Amino acid sequence: MNRIFSTLFVFLFATILFAQNEPATYIHCGTILDVDALKELKDYTIVIEGNKIVSVKKGFTEVPSGASYIDLKGYTVIPGLMDAHVHLESESNPNRYIEKFTLEDADVAYRAGEYARRTLMAGFTYVRDLGGSGVNISLRNAINSGWAVGPRIITAGKSIATTGGHADPTNGMKKRLSGDATPENGVADGPYQAREAVRFRYKNGADVIKITATGGVLSVAKDGQGPQFKADELEAIISTAKEYGMRTAAHAHGAEGMKRAVEAGITSIEHGTLMTEEIMDLMKEKGTYLVPTLSAGKYVAEKAKIEGFYPAVIVPKALAIGPKIQDTFGKAYKRGVKIAFGTDAGVSPHGDNAKEFAYMVEAGMPAFEAIQSATLTTAQLFGVEEEVGQIKEGLYADIVAIEGDPLQNIELMNNVKFVMKDGKVYKSE
Ligand SMILES: [Zn+2]
Repeated sequence: MNRIFSTLFVFLFATILFAQNEPATYIHCGTILDVDALKELKDYTIVIEGNKIVSVKKGFTEVPSGASYIDLKGYTVIPGLMDAHVHLESESNPNRYIEKFTLEDADVAYRAGEYARRTLMAGFTYVRDLGGSGVNISLRNAINSGWAVGPRIITAGKSIATTGGHADPTNGMKKRLSGDATPENGVADGPYQAREAVRFRYKNGADVIKITATGGVLSVAKDGQGPQFKADELEAIISTAKEYGMRTAAHAHGAEGMKRAVEAGITSIEHGTLMTEEIMDLMKEKGTYLVPTLSAGKYVAEKAKIEGFYPAVIVPKALAIGPKIQDTFGKAYKRGVKIAFGTDAGVSPHGDNAKEFAYMVEAGMPAFEAIQSATLTTAQLFGVEEEVGQIKEGLYADIVAIEGDPLQNIELMNNVKFVMKDGKVYKSE
């Protein structure tokens, strides 16, 4: 017995000694953006040990021997960017609708790995995947285990839709090839199936629940905005998700379905295209976030003009809904709705996520607040504001850097020069 204890003691002692000897990293920063106070901090030093920020101090601290050093004195240093709405399994292209029949899960997985890598290299260190086939769950696990390079991910696995609704995976297909529209596959009608669908997501390893509260642009169905869930179904989904510790996100274009989702207690409204002032006020009251996805609106409206890029049933929806999203976002921002950052990348190209910043600024949001939205506010939406979203002592070292001043020129966000995630450098130009 004594021997076991002494071995254990030596082991513990060695572990402590090793942890203390792990070399720290010192980063000298020209400017750090304090996204909480919306202040620029000039000439600061960040000290990192392992994967955590252990201090953020004014001035350029001397680097002790044995520590590693990163010089970002000519840069603006920002917390790792966060995108609350991506689909890492796919990207828009004219073949997208037949890929379900031509690609194996492994094909989708390798491709998703590349999209994840591009996303990280664009400075996005944390994303929320709002719907795919379930490969997105494996991708999250692979990144966490170090088998793939990409951002931290919270994922919905498969979205939940009603029969024939947006994200019913069997829409528009011949029956023999479509699979079944079941709660397990993300299709639910009535409160009992709605609960079952949530429990299947939980069982399969999802972190968050995504529903399609109204019609959508890219589904092979003619309606793009009508409500698609009844109030009792929404109540069943949201209350069940809460019991499993999961937050909820609702795709919504039309007002009625959006209002029902907000009333039922949804965490975030995605797109929000035809949001009324009444809904904006209700969202403020309930603390509901809007995730605008202006990139998707711009992208589908542009591509719908190219013949054959989308199936014919999609074109009029894309032309009508696409341009409205930005306008509504501007109004919701001015009215005081909480804005998290989200692009719907996968509709728009992966790695172009930062284009969203300029669209937000164009609609009237100041550059600093757009950056706050993509860091602190999105961290709050995810419920991880004690872990990431700021450059602050005790948080994970998710840090990116831009050459020049993005507060003066927001387009610089498209050119991230340095990316650190979890204390590890992935990009340094
Ligand atoms: Zn989406």
